[in-house]
Amino acid sequence: MDLYDYARSRMIEEQLVPRGIVDARVLSAMQEVPRHLFVGEPMCSRAYGDFPLPIGAGQTISQPSVVAIMTQALALRAEDSVLEIGTGSGYQAAVLSRICRQVYSVERFSLLLNQARQLFTQLRYFNIRTKMADGTLGWPEYAPFDAIIVTAGGPVVPQPLIDQLAEGGRMVIPVGDQEEQELQLVEKVNGEVQVRSLTSVRFVDLVGAHGWCG
Ligand code: SAH
Repeated sequence: MDLYDYARSRMIEEQLVPRGIVDARVLSAMQEVPRHLFVGEPMCSRAYGDFPLPIGAGQTISQPSVVAIMTQALALRAEDSVLEIGTGSGYQAAVLSRICRQVYSVERFSLLLNQARQLFTQLRYFNIRTKMADGTLGWPEYAPFDAIIVTAGGPVVPQPLIDQLAEGGRMVIPVGDQEEQELQLVEKVNGEVQVRSLTSVRFVDLVGAHGWCG
Protein backbone atom coordinates (compact mmCIF):
# COMPACT_ATOMS: atom_id res chain seq x y z
CA MET A 1 0.00 0.00 0.00
CA ASP A 2 1.20 3.53 -0.76
CA LEU A 3 -0.29 6.95 -1.53
CA TYR A 4 -0.87 5.92 -5.11
CA ASP A 5 -2.90 2.79 -4.36
CA TYR A 6 -6.13 4.60 -5.18
CA ALA A 7 -4.69 6.03 -8.42
CA ARG A 8 -3.81 2.48 -9.47
CA SER A 9 -7.33 1.18 -8.70
CA ARG A 10 -8.74 3.92 -10.93
CA MET A 11 -6.20 3.11 -13.64
CA ILE A 12 -7.46 -0.48 -13.59
CA GLU A 13 -11.16 0.40 -13.61
CA GLU A 14 -10.99 3.23 -16.13
CA GLN A 15 -8.24 2.15 -18.52
CA LEU A 16 -7.62 -1.58 -18.28
CA VAL A 17 -10.99 -3.26 -17.69
CA PRO A 18 -12.67 -1.24 -20.52
CA ARG A 19 -9.83 -2.37 -22.85
CA GLY A 20 -10.68 -6.03 -22.21
CA ILE A 21 -8.07 -6.86 -19.58
CA VAL A 22 -9.56 -9.76 -17.62
CA ASP A 23 -6.49 -11.76 -16.54
CA ALA A 24 -6.56 -11.47 -12.74
CA ARG A 25 -2.77 -11.91 -12.49
CA VAL A 26 -2.16 -8.98 -14.84
CA LEU A 27 -4.60 -6.75 -12.97
CA SER A 28 -3.16 -7.63 -9.57
CA ALA A 29 0.44 -7.11 -10.75
CA MET A 30 -0.47 -3.66 -12.09
CA GLN A 31 -2.31 -2.84 -8.86
CA GLU A 32 0.86 -3.75 -6.96
CA VAL A 33 3.74 -2.22 -8.96
CA PRO A 34 4.39 1.47 -8.06
CA ARG A 35 4.48 2.86 -11.61
CA HIS A 36 5.16 6.40 -10.32
CA LEU A 37 8.64 5.30 -9.18
CA PHE A 38 9.50 4.15 -12.72
CA VAL A 39 8.55 7.42 -14.46
CA GLY A 40 10.72 9.56 -12.18
CA GLU A 41 10.03 12.55 -9.95
CA PRO A 42 8.96 15.23 -12.48
CA MET A 43 6.39 12.94 -14.13
CA CYS A 44 5.12 11.39 -10.90
CA SER A 45 1.70 13.04 -10.94
CA ARG A 46 1.07 11.81 -14.49
CA ALA A 47 2.22 8.25 -13.84
CA TYR A 48 -1.24 6.69 -13.86
CA GLY A 49 -2.68 8.46 -16.91
CA ASP A 50 -3.31 6.46 -20.08
CA PHE A 51 -0.45 7.90 -22.13
CA PRO A 52 3.22 7.08 -22.73
CA LEU A 53 5.80 9.20 -20.88
CA PRO A 54 9.46 10.10 -21.55
CA ILE A 55 12.00 8.14 -19.45
CA GLY A 56 15.27 9.66 -20.72
CA ALA A 57 17.71 8.77 -23.52
CA GLY A 58 14.92 9.63 -26.02
CA GLN A 59 12.89 6.59 -24.90
CA THR A 60 9.36 6.20 -23.54
CA ILE A 61 7.47 4.04 -21.08
CA SER A 62 4.35 2.57 -22.72
CA GLN A 63 0.91 3.63 -21.55
CA PRO A 64 -0.66 1.30 -18.94
CA SER A 65 -3.23 -0.18 -21.34
CA VAL A 66 -0.51 -1.23 -23.82
CA VAL A 67 1.55 -2.84 -21.02
CA ALA A 68 -1.59 -4.72 -19.95
CA ILE A 69 -2.58 -5.83 -23.47
CA MET A 70 0.93 -7.16 -24.16
CA THR A 71 1.22 -8.91 -20.80
CA GLN A 72 -2.21 -10.52 -21.10
CA ALA A 73 -1.44 -11.71 -24.65
CA LEU A 74 1.52 -13.70 -23.25
CA ALA A 75 -0.91 -15.96 -21.29
CA LEU A 76 1.66 -16.25 -18.49
CA ARG A 77 1.87 -18.98 -15.88
CA ALA A 78 3.58 -18.78 -12.49
CA GLU A 79 6.37 -21.19 -13.50
CA ASP A 80 7.25 -19.33 -16.72
CA SER A 81 10.62 -17.88 -17.61
CA VAL A 82 10.21 -14.66 -19.64
CA LEU A 83 12.62 -12.64 -21.79
CA GLU A 84 12.05 -8.91 -22.28
CA ILE A 85 13.86 -6.84 -24.90
CA GLY A 86 14.02 -3.15 -23.94
CA THR A 87 14.17 -2.78 -20.14
CA GLY A 88 13.75 1.01 -20.37
CA SER A 89 12.33 2.25 -17.06
CA GLY A 90 11.97 -1.32 -15.80
CA TYR A 91 8.19 -1.02 -15.35
CA GLN A 92 7.21 -3.80 -17.75
CA ALA A 93 9.83 -6.14 -16.25
CA ALA A 94 8.49 -5.34 -12.76
CA VAL A 95 4.94 -6.26 -13.83
CA LEU A 96 6.19 -9.53 -15.36
CA SER A 97 8.18 -10.34 -12.21
CA ARG A 98 5.01 -10.29 -10.09
CA ILE A 99 3.42 -12.95 -12.34
CA CYS A 100 6.29 -15.26 -13.37
CA ARG A 101 9.09 -17.25 -11.78
CA GLN A 102 11.96 -15.50 -13.58
CA VAL A 103 12.37 -12.46 -15.83
CA TYR A 104 15.39 -11.77 -18.06
CA SER A 105 15.55 -8.26 -19.50
CA VAL A 106 18.01 -6.77 -22.01
CA GLU A 107 18.61 -3.03 -22.59
CA ARG A 108 21.07 -1.24 -24.88
CA PHE A 109 21.42 1.97 -22.82
CA SER A 110 23.42 1.66 -19.58
CA LEU A 111 21.89 4.82 -18.10
CA LEU A 112 18.37 3.37 -18.25
CA LEU A 113 19.52 -0.06 -17.15
CA ASN A 114 21.26 1.29 -14.04
CA GLN A 115 18.19 3.26 -12.96
CA ALA A 116 15.97 0.20 -13.47
CA ARG A 117 18.36 -2.05 -11.54
CA GLN A 118 18.31 0.33 -8.56
CA LEU A 119 14.53 0.21 -8.47
CA PHE A 120 14.43 -3.60 -8.67
CA THR A 121 16.72 -3.75 -5.63
CA GLN A 122 14.78 -1.07 -3.75
CA LEU A 123 11.49 -2.89 -4.38
CA ARG A 124 13.07 -6.29 -3.67
CA TYR A 125 12.13 -7.70 -7.08
CA PHE A 126 14.90 -10.28 -6.96
CA ASN A 127 13.67 -12.48 -9.82
CA ILE A 128 14.71 -10.02 -12.56
CA ARG A 129 18.09 -10.54 -14.22
CA THR A 130 19.29 -7.86 -16.63
CA LYS A 131 22.14 -7.23 -19.04
CA MET A 132 23.30 -4.49 -21.36
CA ALA A 133 23.40 -5.89 -24.90
CA ASP A 134 21.68 -5.99 -28.28
CA GLY A 135 18.45 -7.75 -27.38
CA THR A 136 17.67 -8.67 -31.00
CA LEU A 137 20.18 -11.48 -30.39
CA GLY A 138 18.15 -12.72 -27.41
CA TRP A 139 19.90 -14.23 -24.39
CA PRO A 140 21.01 -17.70 -25.52
CA GLU A 141 22.44 -18.74 -22.11
CA TYR A 142 18.96 -18.82 -20.56
CA ALA A 143 16.95 -20.02 -23.58
CA PRO A 144 14.44 -21.43 -24.24
CA PHE A 145 11.89 -18.93 -22.88
CA ASP A 146 8.20 -19.66 -22.29
CA ALA A 147 7.42 -16.09 -23.28
CA ILE A 148 9.24 -13.21 -24.99
CA ILE A 149 8.14 -9.56 -25.01
CA VAL A 150 9.77 -6.95 -27.23
CA THR A 151 8.98 -3.39 -26.14
CA ALA A 152 10.51 -1.60 -29.14
CA GLY A 153 9.38 -1.76 -32.77
CA GLY A 154 11.41 -3.43 -35.52
CA PRO A 155 11.05 -4.25 -39.22
CA VAL A 156 10.93 -8.04 -38.69
CA VAL A 157 10.67 -10.63 -35.92
CA PRO A 158 14.37 -11.30 -35.10
CA GLN A 159 15.25 -14.92 -35.95
CA PRO A 160 17.29 -15.45 -32.72
CA LEU A 161 14.14 -14.69 -30.72
CA ILE A 162 12.12 -17.25 -32.69
CA ASP A 163 14.90 -19.79 -32.10
CA GLN A 164 14.95 -19.05 -28.35
CA LEU A 165 11.18 -19.42 -27.91
CA ALA A 166 10.18 -22.69 -26.22
CA GLU A 167 7.77 -25.13 -27.82
CA GLY A 168 4.31 -23.84 -26.88
CA GLY A 169 5.88 -20.42 -26.18
CA ARG A 170 4.35 -17.02 -26.93
CA MET A 171 6.04 -13.81 -28.08
CA VAL A 172 4.56 -10.31 -28.48
CA ILE A 173 6.42 -7.85 -30.68
CA PRO A 174 5.59 -4.64 -32.58
CA VAL A 175 6.52 -5.12 -36.25
CA GLY A 176 6.31 -2.45 -38.94
CA ASP A 177 7.96 0.78 -40.04
CA GLN A 178 9.34 3.52 -37.79
CA GLU A 179 6.00 5.37 -37.72
CA GLU A 180 3.53 2.61 -36.89
CA GLN A 181 3.62 -1.10 -36.12
CA GLU A 182 1.31 -4.06 -35.77
CA LEU A 183 1.50 -5.78 -32.41
CA GLN A 184 2.10 -9.40 -33.40
CA LEU A 185 1.53 -12.51 -31.31
CA VAL A 186 4.00 -15.20 -32.40
CA GLU A 187 3.40 -18.75 -31.14
CA LYS A 188 5.45 -21.89 -31.58
CA VAL A 189 3.06 -24.82 -31.97
CA ASN A 190 4.49 -28.28 -32.79
CA GLY A 191 7.65 -26.62 -34.05
CA GLU A 192 5.65 -24.36 -36.38
CA VAL A 193 5.56 -20.58 -36.04
CA GLN A 194 2.09 -19.00 -36.09
CA VAL A 195 1.66 -15.22 -36.30
CA ARG A 196 -1.43 -13.17 -35.49
CA SER A 197 -1.89 -9.37 -35.49
CA LEU A 198 -3.46 -7.94 -32.35
CA THR A 199 -3.65 -4.16 -32.75
CA SER A 200 -1.82 -1.11 -34.13
CA VAL A 201 0.80 0.45 -31.88
CA ARG A 202 3.56 3.06 -31.92
CA PHE A 203 6.83 2.15 -30.26
CA VAL A 204 10.35 3.57 -30.24
CA ASP A 205 12.87 1.89 -32.56
CA LEU A 206 14.28 -1.55 -31.93
CA VAL A 207 17.93 -0.85 -32.78
CA GLY A 208 20.26 -3.77 -33.41
CA ALA A 209 21.56 -6.52 -35.67
CA HIS A 210 17.99 -7.72 -36.39
CA GLY A 211 16.35 -4.32 -35.97
CA TRP A 212 16.90 -0.79 -37.31
CA CYS A 213 20.41 0.62 -37.78
CA GLY A 214 21.52 2.77 -34.83
N1 SAH B 1 9.70 -1.87 -21.38
C1 SAH B 1 10.09 -0.49 -21.18
C2 SAH B 1 9.85 0.32 -22.45
C3 SAH B 1 11.07 1.02 -22.85
S1 SAH B 1 11.09 1.78 -24.44
C4 SAH B 1 9.44 0.11 -19.96
O1 SAH B 1 8.61 -0.57 -19.32
O2 SAH B 1 9.75 1.24 -19.60
C5 SAH B 1 12.04 0.62 -25.36
C6 SAH B 1 13.43 0.34 -24.89
O3 SAH B 1 14.03 -0.57 -25.81
C7 SAH B 1 14.35 1.54 -24.85
O4 SAH B 1 14.86 1.70 -23.56
C8 SAH B 1 15.47 1.20 -25.86
O5 SAH B 1 16.72 1.67 -25.47
C9 SAH B 1 15.41 -0.31 -25.86
N2 SAH B 1 15.97 -0.98 -27.03
C10 SAH B 1 15.85 -0.65 -28.34
N3 SAH B 1 16.51 -1.55 -29.11
C11 SAH B 1 17.06 -2.45 -28.26
C12 SAH B 1 17.88 -3.61 -28.45
N4 SAH B 1 18.24 -4.05 -29.66
N5 SAH B 1 18.27 -4.29 -27.35
C13 SAH B 1 17.93 -3.88 -26.11
N6 SAH B 1 17.16 -2.79 -25.87
C14 SAH B 1 16.73 -2.09 -26.93
